[in-house]
Amino acid sequence: MPIPRVTATVDLSAIRHNLSRVRALAPQSKVMAAIKADGYGHGAVPVAQALADAGVDAFAVACLEEAMTLRAAGISTRIALLEGVLSRDEAIEAAALGLEIVIHDRWQLDLLASLPPESPLAVWFKLDSGMHRLGFPLAEAQSLNEALRDHPNWQLQGWITHLACADDLTSPMTQAQITAFEAAMDGIPGARSIANSAGLTAWPQARVDWVRPGLMLYGASPMPGQTGADLGLKPAMEVASRLIAVHPIAAGETVGYGATFTCPETMQVGVVAVGYADGVHRILPTGAPVLIHGVRVPIIGRVSMDMITVDLRRLPQAAVGDPVTLWGAGLPVEEVATWAGTLAYELFCGLTNRVHYRYTG
Ligand SMILES: *Cc1c(COP(=O)(O)O)cnc(C)c1O
Repeated sequence: MPIPRVTATVDLSAIRHNLSRVRALAPQSKVMAAIKADGYGHGAVPVAQALADAGVDAFAVACLEEAMTLRAAGISTRIALLEGVLSRDEAIEAAALGLEIVIHDRWQLDLLASLPPESPLAVWFKLDSGMHRLGFPLAEAQSLNEALRDHPNWQLQGWITHLACADDLTSPMTQAQITAFEAAMDGIPGARSIANSAGLTAWPQARVDWVRPGLMLYGASPMPGQTGADLGLKPAMEVASRLIAVHPIAAGETVGYGATFTCPETMQVGVVAVGYADGVHRILPTGAPVLIHGVRVPIIGRVSMDMITVDLRRLPQAAVGDPVTLWGAGLPVEEVATWAGTLAYELFCGLTNRVHYRYTG
């Protein structure tokens, strides 16, 4: 039996706890949990099962394929396709699986209008309130609402817009987007949805009929400078490997590809069985921390495909076989993301299929 080399341990009870934090922040709102990209790298099916058990109202995924995975696993909760469907066949399949289709562009309207008029179709309209990625112009809200009359088989679930700068408390853009969206919706029936994690954390006025948290359900903070714990969230993932070599390297010798680290003294160097082929970003510089026996030790030299090297001077007792935490309890993913010049989102999604998953809680 091979020993799992790199393990991502996902605590499903933390994910359920984080949903309860969302409920506490937005008690009047329904919750559409974003579990696209394989549940932000946590495993969409177990995450969906945990959230469904905890009474989540709906899921959001990027595409039909992701929704099919959930339905095949027996998940019967409502699921919205955030990017809608790409073809008539996809629309038929989506309808057969009882999926809810976001319509964000005129070509999708035309595509759905070509379906047999008797088959019921659950749809959301997406409006562009300023992010300028997906969505109809706000000025078209009224005509979209009127178009529903031509399609009695379409069941409108609501109106979605997306915030561009909700993680920046100083940006005037969020309030401008909310104001413009509400104005465009004035007098138009149907549920509204505005907020992602940052929106619902930082902007009470964005907590409308539906909220759409993703990141915070996994316990990471959507707000820069804050960790999930600061927001009452529990990090759900811990990524760990182990030391596979520990040896003294002499003063003046270098470590790793490119010889980018020179030992300032004779020192214990540890080799950890994890690399960029597992999802540890190669951009992580010398100095970025990992955790061994609860002690932060710095990475030295380059991250390679299967290994990293670490400075064990702070931890003389470290030995082959010792577990090494890449992020998790004691080392927030947000901090590692900062070292890598990115966000927790990208670290989560960057874990590769070489990582073994283990579920607790
Ligand atoms: C991914 C996504 C979300 C969730 O965003 P988080 O920042 O992870 O909370 C919400 N709405 C839309 C449209 C999305 O694509």
